[in-house]
Amino acid sequence: MSGLELRNIVKNFGAVEVIRDVSLHVNDGEFVAFVGPSGCGKSTLLRLIAGLDKPTDGSIAIDGKDVTAISAADRGLAMVFQSYALYPHMSVRENLAFGLENTKVAKAEIEARITDAARMLEIEPFLQRRPGQLSGGQRQRVAIGRAIVRRPDAFLLDEPLSNLDAELRVSMRAELAALHARLKATMIYVTHDQVEAMTLADRIVVLRGGRIEQVGTPLELYNKPANRFVAGFIGAPH
Ligand code: ADP
Ligand code: MG
Repeated sequence: MSGLELRNIVKNFGAVEVIRDVSLHVNDGEFVAFVGPSGCGKSTLLRLIAGLDKPTDGSIAIDGKDVTAISAADRGLAMVFQSYALYPHMSVRENLAFGLENTKVAKAEIEARITDAARMLEIEPFLQRRPGQLSGGQRQRVAIGRAIVRRPDAFLLDEPLSNLDAELRVSMRAELAALHARLKATMIYVTHDQVEAMTLADRIVVLRGGRIEQVGTPLELYNKPANRFVAGFIGAPH
């Protein structure tokens, strides 16, 4: 089976159950948003998918292959964090190339990918600058660019726009939609902003207390919320 499959995922930190029996299938090329209040387990679930952390129980498969024990680097995924996580002492170009240099990807290919991503994200004029010399929006573009140059099968984005001001967030939202249309890659997008989820996602996964409350298209969730919590969170009448 193609796509990403989460089966009965449980994650405990000590005695605390943070993810409780989450099962989900994400299709190739799908844009899925994880929404829910702060602390409901969105980032934890994303980190488990990325392979940055291991589930306490359950399994994760990509294209039918069990990756539960496979390292983050070998899963073909790229993660974009809210905090950008750029190296301050490196230029934008070096930040983009970092992590690709010691792989099988040839130098010329790395250069071509950087040029392509920089053009796509309109950060070409800043390639020689350091992150500290960029605005928040430009930094977040670089962070997305760093994921793009890896040519991942799926992008995992953890509240990538939440540090940006409202106006920029709206324009970056449109850019993300365009990027998804162009790359045709799977995107799993964590946000606590329901408007972002409603406008960007093919399907929305509503989480509460480490459990899935409902999964559906934005329209399904709006028209047929499973309960008052989902309705309230989505902003649907209830
Ligand atoms: P969200 O991203 O939805 O805000 P998180 O996934 O970051 O939520 O956190 C879910 C819960 O797990 C929170 O109660 C948080 O305190 C707890 N948690 C997250 N990471 C750890 C950790 N490394 N150790 C202990 N508790 C953690
Ligand atoms: Mg989080």
